[in-house]
Amino acid sequence: MTRTHDVVGVGIGPFNLGLAALADPLDDVDAVFLDQRPGFSWHPGMMLDGATIQVPFLADLVTMADPTSPYSFLAFLKDVGRLYPFYVRESFYPLRSEYDQYCRWVADRLGTLRWGRRVVGVERAPGSDDLLVTAEVGAGSTATPRTETYRARHVVLGVGTAPRLPAPLAALAADAPAGAGPVVHTADYLPHRDALRASGSVTVVGSGQSAAEVYRDLVEGAGADTYRVDWVTRSPRFFPMEYTKLTLEMTSPEYTDHYRSLPGELRDLLGREQRALSKGISGDLVDEIYDTLYRRTAVGAELPTTLLTDTEVVAARTEAGGPDGDGEHVLTLRHGQTGQVAEHRTRAVVAATGYAGPGVPGFLAPGLARVDARGRLDVARDYTVDDAGRLHVVGTEEHTHGVTAPDLGFGAWRNSVVLAAVTGREPYPVERRIAFQTFGLPDGAPPPDTARPAVDVPTEATR
Ligand SMILES: Cc1cc2nc3c(=O)[nH]c(=O)nc-3n(C[C@H](O)[C@H](O)[C@H](O)COP(=O)(O)OP(=O)(O)OC[C@H]3O[C@@H](n4cnc5c(N)ncnc54)[C@H](O)[C@@H]3O)c2cc1C
Repeated sequence: MTRTHDVVGVGIGPFNLGLAALADPLDDVDAVFLDQRPGFSWHPGMMLDGATIQVPFLADLVTMADPTSPYSFLAFLKDVGRLYPFYVRESFYPLRSEYDQYCRWVADRLGTLRWGRRVVGVERAPGSDDLLVTAEVGAGSTATPRTETYRARHVVLGVGTAPRLPAPLAALAADAPAGAGPVVHTADYLPHRDALRASGSVTVVGSGQSAAEVYRDLVEGAGADTYRVDWVTRSPRFFPMEYTKLTLEMTSPEYTDHYRSLPGELRDLLGREQRALSKGISGDLVDEIYDTLYRRTAVGAELPTTLLTDTEVVAARTEAGGPDGDGEHVLTLRHGQTGQVAEHRTRAVVAATGYAGPGVPGFLAPGLARVDARGRLDVARDYTVDDAGRLHVVGTEEHTHGVTAPDLGFGAWRNSVVLAAVTGREPYPVERRIAFQTFGLPDGAPPPDTARPAVDVPTEATR
């Protein structure tokens, strides 16, 4: 008789790893988590030296749900003997490499994680609300792949997002002939860094934190006798991430309730407008880049770099080079305000063009999950996507829940909601209100007038 787990988690990124850590001390929760990778690894392609996470250390896997958890970031520091150095460092923001190490430390202490398992099917168990999860074991390894099936009362999809390449760059990456320089997404930056630098000229395409980090990393080594580095972005400016405290209150259950009360197309518009909340560049990094450019040109040195805003890559091709591999990528650029079009030649491209959600994961049985008119998972307030309330989503519900979805700081709250559904009680208190401000008008206000004044803020998406 197949064992029925209370929870089967699909994907073990920070969000489901947090769920595993919060479920671990609960005697009434039998959970198992599956991931296709051989072990935990957090954005290895962007594990840049000195890079920090963008949220305070309290946004670890467990603390906001259970400050006494043995799986907290502070417990990790104590265990590895780095609590005092962290204390003396007096920064709220751990290094990205530290956060990755911390997650591996937690993963090593949990007995409920199964690596090397690619989930290929989730379906309803016949005659029950339970779910059957089928995973391929050893896919991509030499062992003959076999499958395992898990039965679960609840399944939690924490499959994360995948690198997104706009069409011109996707074609370029797919067809780049031998001899032409690399065309890579930031997710694969570090493994290609040397080849990028050796190419002679690199163009970073895109805005946001990853673009800025890669540009800064490359411009530090750029030079007349080494390579040039250019930065092209569709954004009207290199805008900073917004960190002001009243804005940060939008990462709250109340704002999520408000956001969800709005019509779908208004939510989508707001989602684009609120890019500065999670898709901008940290203000410090913007200034550090300026200071680097200032310092590197202080003694009259020419720095081979161009920074272009409001500029979109509308087409791209590769001109194969001679035997010495001097192929070039030719990007057709169009300026958003002037409409000018020009060609830009470069030997290599780094696409800092973000990540896309899974849409409706292909491994879900047809009709199992609710899907909205735009073919996206229709995620309910409690993060479920099926009418039986047994299939949950964590981390990819930005289109229904707004800015809280990708935020590491909100993972523990959401996992507390999921565990409340699994256990029928609140093993971890779920705060209903955390903000000082009120979103929408206070209760008792007259019914809404959905007519909304036109937004006059120039946003990238409206170009
Ligand atoms: C470079 C970078 C830095 C970031 N820094 C921050 C930050 O500082 N603060 C912040 O709040 N957010 C940050 N984010 C955003 C976000 O928090 C992260 O993307 C986070 O990793 C999301 O966690 P996740 O658990 O949803 O998914 P992921 O970390 O993407 O993990 C998903 C897992 O699912 C597995 N998987 C997928 N499909 C299957 C399948 N079919 N079968 C089995 N396994 C599967 C994958 O192998 C993967 O391990 C950052 C994002 C990036 C790209």
